[in-house]
Amino acid sequence: MNETVDLVVANARLLVTMDDDRTEIAGGWVAIDAGVVVGVGPAGREPVGRRRIDAGDAVVTPGLVNTHHHIYQNLTRALPPATRENLFGWLTYLYPIWSRLDEEASYLSAWVGFAELMLGGCTTTMDHLYVHPRGGGDVITAEITAATELGMRFHATRGSMSRSQKDGGLPPDEVVQDFDEILADSERLVGLHHQREPHAMVQVALAPCSPFSVTPELMVATAELAERLDVRLHTHLAEDHDEDTYCQEMYGCRPLEYFEQVGWGSDRSWVAHCVYPNATEISRLAEWGTGVAHCPSSNQILSAGLAPISEMREAGVPVGIGCDGSSSADSASLWMETRAAMLLGRLRGGAAAMQARDALEMATRGGARCLGRQGQIGELSVGAAGDLVVWPLDGVRFAGAWADPVEALLRCGPNAARYTVIAGQVVVDDGHLVASGTEDILRRHETVARSWQQ
Ligand SMILES: [Zn+2]
Repeated sequence: MNETVDLVVANARLLVTMDDDRTEIAGGWVAIDAGVVVGVGPAGREPVGRRRIDAGDAVVTPGLVNTHHHIYQNLTRALPPATRENLFGWLTYLYPIWSRLDEEASYLSAWVGFAELMLGGCTTTMDHLYVHPRGGGDVITAEITAATELGMRFHATRGSMSRSQKDGGLPPDEVVQDFDEILADSERLVGLHHQREPHAMVQVALAPCSPFSVTPELMVATAELAERLDVRLHTHLAEDHDEDTYCQEMYGCRPLEYFEQVGWGSDRSWVAHCVYPNATEISRLAEWGTGVAHCPSSNQILSAGLAPISEMREAGVPVGIGCDGSSSADSASLWMETRAAMLLGRLRGGAAAMQARDALEMATRGGARCLGRQGQIGELSVGAAGDLVVWPLDGVRFAGAWADPVEALLRCGPNAARYTVIAGQVVVDDGHLVASGTEDILRRHETVARSWQQ
């Protein structure tokens, strides 16, 4: 490789590619040109870059992939008395507040949310936006505007709620929509924003919210629409004991049986949480190729439970990691979620059940599978997207951790990205967000958040 490329990240203490062979190279380099990885190799053979980043005291990984989030919730973080509740109580308190969401609030929360994610080493995120209040405008296009401004690789999902309290659902009337309106808007957003090329920066999936806020008819119709439009499907599933009880009473079956009955058991789908599948249901998920977004902090904060992640991975279920909504997990650091996934895996299954590399694999390759982007993101191999993170391993936090930089990355800390690169663009530079205007955005975000919380 003789020609000059856009960016070379070189001299890594350890380069962790997460490629098909899980190649790791001490002293390795990555070259990115036109947004795509064009070379990976050992020290001394790298091309010249128009910019060169030295990663001598750092570990370099693929950018982390966030497979579950509700970004608008950063307008209601850590808000009592919901802080004392489990899932159903927490939702019931917050739905009326969220009914104030509009384009301005969606744009501001997305801007803040993407910035926070980038600083924590996330390069691709989804967002599950299921609140579409009447008169609130196009809240999903507002998020996509923020993603484009910041340079985030973004999987928007057109969420929906159609079953309100009067029909036996959990949400109030003012945040649900009717069947035809949801399907028409879903098709409109896919037509407007969904990019089909391998290195797409914006994609759109369809995402009815949960068994207790959506009718079976909408689940069936959404699956059919996703098939026709060739886009992915996402929903919450098996998060909480209350949901089990609800499904038994309303549908006469467990959440996963319901999921299959409405036509969602497929590799087009990935689901959030999945804390309570039994052994048979884990096998079914694996047969379908349905992905799971594991949300360790949220599962702890809402006291949902310990998800059987090791069992799912052993069975072949694609498992990614999600930070979940900013007001259930209250933070949006994929580094922290990846660490929490490692810790909970060990707590549930013993020390041998989950190592740092297992957790990092979920946060990268696993996330790519959930989003239908395997080979495109979540790994550093020639032809993959130029998305990577340079993680510092220096200073007092890492003193003494010389033997295994990957174990050190997740066992020591706390940590955040020194450099985050998306499509070859440096979006976090020496620990700082490159985009300007953060203070103005935070001021506007505060105004909206305070008005909602009065
Ligand atoms: Zn969620």
